[in-house]
Amino acid sequence: MQSVLITCLFFSVLSYATPYRIVVDPGHGGKDTGASLNNIKESEITLQISKKIREQFQGTPNIEVYLTRENDSIVPLFERAELSKQKKADLFLSIHANSSPDLSARGAEFYFQSQMPPDEETLFLANRENNEVATSSEVKDKGDLNTIIEDLQKTGHVYSSQIFAETLLKNWKKDFKARSQPIRQGPFHVLVNVPIPSVLIEVGFITNTKDRDNLSLPHKQQRIAEIIFNSVIEYKEKMDKGHFSSHIISHANR
Ligand SMILES: [Zn+2]
Repeated sequence: MQSVLITCLFFSVLSYATPYRIVVDPGHGGKDTGASLNNIKESEITLQISKKIREQFQGTPNIEVYLTRENDSIVPLFERAELSKQKKADLFLSIHANSSPDLSARGAEFYFQSQMPPDEETLFLANRENNEVATSSEVKDKGDLNTIIEDLQKTGHVYSSQIFAETLLKNWKKDFKARSQPIRQGPFHVLVNVPIPSVLIEVGFITNTKDRDNLSLPHKQQRIAEIIFNSVIEYKEKMDKGHFSSHIISHANR
């Protein structure tokens, strides 16, 4: 009788287990198109890819995915971060596409939070990604980069973010190109303000012909979504197995 009760309790606990929640943030939106070339807009590409990421998780038990925007609308950066708090999310992924005057520049980059002063290229990109179209409700929340850097806290989610970025890069390189130093740290507003592991994914360069095809063709977008899905599952398994604590220890010993 006791074993039956324990079994029932076990399955009832399983069925009520807290879901793993992911917030996927399609960068830009509305008047803020982000990078654009001809009729291709970063804000459209990021929304298309983000929706495909959510589709990937449909049917996956105990994982919920929320998007910060569902259409071509302006959502202030602080509201995007706020959603991750409201949903008590475990992982925040911000999707972006890059651009460059150098048309040969191509490949993905994966950014996570940093306490260190950024290099010049990262600072340029962070300024651009942070520089959304201002709305009255968000002006109060706009801090300069120095404030953001000062406010950064060295907590475990920075290490977790790095583990996710490394996992994603490993899977990404099987199908797509990454830049020469693809994992970077930067003071991105949208990352700094979420209290959970968070990575900003620059999926490629709109200004490069080959990257542009990868970003805009539906079957390539689908593959990007699959890779991100596989990476989240792999990352979650690493976290569940305690990879996080051993990573912290290895860093602490450096
Ligand atoms: Zn962007």
